Amino acid sequence: MSAIDDLATELARLPGIGRKTALRLTYYLLRQPPEQSKRLANALVTLGERVRTCARCFNLTEDEVCSICRDPRRDASLICVVEQASDIGAVERAGEFKGLYHVLGGRLSPLDGVGPADLTVEALLTRVNPGGEAGGGIGVREVILATNPSLEGEATALYVQTQLAPTGVAVSRIARGLPVGGDLEYADGVTIAQAISARRAM
Ligand SMILES: [Zn+2]
Repeated sequence: MSAIDDLATELARLPGIGRKTALRLTYYLLRQPPEQSKRLANALVTLGERVRTCARCFNLTEDEVCSICRDPRRDASLICVVEQASDIGAVERAGEFKGLYHVLGGRLSPLDGVGPADLTVEALLTRVNPGGEAGGGIGVREVILATNPSLEGEATALYVQTQLAPTGVAVSRIARGLPVGGDLEYADGVTIAQAISARRAM
């Protein structure tokens, strides 16, 4: 396989990039000074080396524990559960929520082979359980389930709720101000803020 094919194949794996676009990008890079491709390659390597998941909430970070978990001004008794780390940015932009997060790492989707063991539910239970050492010794009083308002998102919220039930912690679900079938990541701040303030107990 040629170098051109190699790069085009890798680029075509990215979301929203088809084979045609991948080839166009490859030829574009070939026309640029070699330094530009080197900077891109370095940025990709650095990304893979430095970025990892927060030991507590599974947010993306370059440190052991992310900046949100380390922030003493955040309310550690509130945990907002989201599907992906990218959802945190969406909720943060809304500016309504001052608690901590927990990233599940996906949603239950039997068709895609994603089951409960693929999500970070066990780690969430450890954080919530007041007797648990890894919880940081701070009592969690409410868990807000902010999975997407899709079928899988709802099923995931229901599953997490049943897992949390024995701990006795209050569990709420964000209200349906969000469009059904939509992605939290792309919702505007006002919609997310309303959805969080109008959350309901589960
Ligand atoms: Zn964190």
